[in-house]
Amino acid sequence: MSQHPQPTAAIRAVPATTPFVAPEELARRVGRSSLVRLGANESAFGPSPLAIAAMQAAVPMVSIYGDPESVDLRTALAARHNCTIENIVVGSGVDELLGLICRTYGALGDPVLMSHGSYATFAFQVIGHGLDLITVPPFSDGSVDIEAMLARAREIQPKIVYLANPDNPSGSFVDADAVARLRDGLPPDTLFVLDEAYAHFVTSGTLLPEGIDERTIRLHTFSKAYGMAGARIGYALASREAIATFQKIRNHFGVNRTAQIGALAALDDQAFVQHVVAEVARGREEYHAFGKRIGVRTLPSQTNFVCFEIGTRQAAEAMMHGLLERGVFVRKPGEPPINGYIRVTVGTPEERALFYEHFAAALDALRERVS
Ligand SMILES: *Cc1c(COP(=O)(O)O)cnc(C)c1O
Repeated sequence: MSQHPQPTAAIRAVPATTPFVAPEELARRVGRSSLVRLGANESAFGPSPLAIAAMQAAVPMVSIYGDPESVDLRTALAARHNCTIENIVVGSGVDELLGLICRTYGALGDPVLMSHGSYATFAFQVIGHGLDLITVPPFSDGSVDIEAMLARAREIQPKIVYLANPDNPSGSFVDADAVARLRDGLPPDTLFVLDEAYAHFVTSGTLLPEGIDERTIRLHTFSKAYGMAGARIGYALASREAIATFQKIRNHFGVNRTAQIGALAALDDQAFVQHVVAEVARGREEYHAFGKRIGVRTLPSQTNFVCFEIGTRQAAEAMMHGLLERGVFVRKPGEPPINGYIRVTVGTPEERALFYEHFAAALDALRERVS
């Protein structure tokens, strides 16, 4: 036995993976100082000018901690979501809250269910907490098979069922009645985690109605439509009991004060959010039209990104690298059946124009190589 301190056996068994290689690292690898960032689903349209002003004004006071209870922000959120502040916990992004949920509800080896290939960071958190990740194959377009999820949940009685809706990386969306059918059909002691990071971008279809229930945690973020990914702030809506439990063990000062202030200001500028949503919807349509024009299939999307079909997994990886070498950062779904696609965030009109140019060139190079 080794003489130096060792992590626990469960942690030693965790594979050394990260959910995503960062664009900064990718840029270093290809010797570039920056990339056209269309790979992380960040907002190309920035934060609200009100949020920027509020955060700028707040910076000199960064010497003090933020309110660990985030009461101002939770009060504003409670009004928006028609609940009380006892139904809300704020975290440094949904990603942190996903970890907190795994830590709170999962014991070592407990089964956790998700659609195969859905949000990689959730899978990363499940594995990192020593839980047993079990997946259900999605449909051929990557969309979630709700009936299969339900059947599997009844079979394995998971501690947690996770659904990203809209889904990342497919971009697909499940209508409210199907989500409710899944929620209502789960075993009584299964926690339903509904990740609604892209909820703002749903333009056709219905979200689950607002409302707190004992078995559901709904997650929202300021990283996408609000354009504040770098501020690291998101929140969960859940029962008082669940929130009180998180209160006991969460990273008490884990949300930075500037982000709290920025988020509060961002909530007050819904006109800006509507502008972003409209810009994203336009960009999405443009991506589909571009795909059609050059004979590349795209997947329907209710998010701020679109998946383009390249071919095999190897071809999609070559495409991703080809774009990277041309200075364009995109990602690709890691798992079948959509691992032959690349996933492209809706950029500004200028970024989209650059993408079309480089995509066409990279596609030509790819076709030349295989022919
Ligand atoms: C982007 C994204 C999030 C956001 O995570 P943050 O930690 O709040 O930035 C959460 N879930 C999904 C499915 C996402 O794609």
